[in-house]
Amino acid sequence: PFVSIEGIDGSGKTLQAEFLAASLRARNLTVLRTKEPDGGWIGLGVRSILTAERPSPLSPQEEMLLISAARFNHVRGVIRPALVAGNWVVTDRFVDSTFAFQVYQTGVSERAFEEITAEVVGNTMPNFTFILDIDADTAVRRRNARAGKPGDDPAEATRNFARIRNGYLEVARRSPRRCYIIDATAMPRVVADRIMSIIISQL
Ligand code: C5P
Ligand code: MG
Repeated sequence: PFVSIEGIDGSGKTLQAEFLAASLRARNLTVLRTKEPDGGWIGLGVRSILTAERPSPLSPQEEMLLISAARFNHVRGVIRPALVAGNWVVTDRFVDSTFAFQVYQTGVSERAFEEITAEVVGNTMPNFTFILDIDADTAVRRRNARAGKPGDDPAEATRNFARIRNGYLEVARRSPRRCYIIDATAMPRVVADRIMSIIISQL
């Protein structure tokens, strides 16, 4: 089984992926916990391109293609082998991040996204996607409380986060069988229990 955890920055994806992996392991299941964009070796290089100083701006298309190359390598080299071996895979971000960021936020065409994504993931799609939903103000507050995050204009950051959040809510509307919207303003343990109870009820 394949689980993706999605949501805007500061929604608690990384912590929930850890909690979920721990709960599954407590049931004697073998779990691979991974992440994007840097879950495979190509992704390590892509992350450094995405975060480094740039000689010229990176277009949304270039960003999507880089992330898609990293994802192809991640699916082929990491996710699929683990699933074939019968393990659980829990990933912190997957294809819906590309929809929310590169399509909804920055304007890559849906057609390009859909064609490339079909090529990149094939039928290796999550059985469960948990969209950790928080409002943009909470996200910006949580992000600003973290060390080393940019001191950008908070009003602009809030608008930006709201747009990405809407991208995720659109994903949930389009893929209601796979996606569960989880209120991630609740305490982390409460969020973790909701996620685990959905998984248990669907097994
Ligand atoms: O999840 P993580 O904090 O590692 O993501 C790092 C950043 O990469 C995010 O803040 C997001 O802005 C960016 N990202 C992106 N497009 C994706 C995935 C992540 O722009 N598809
Ligand atoms: Mg994180």
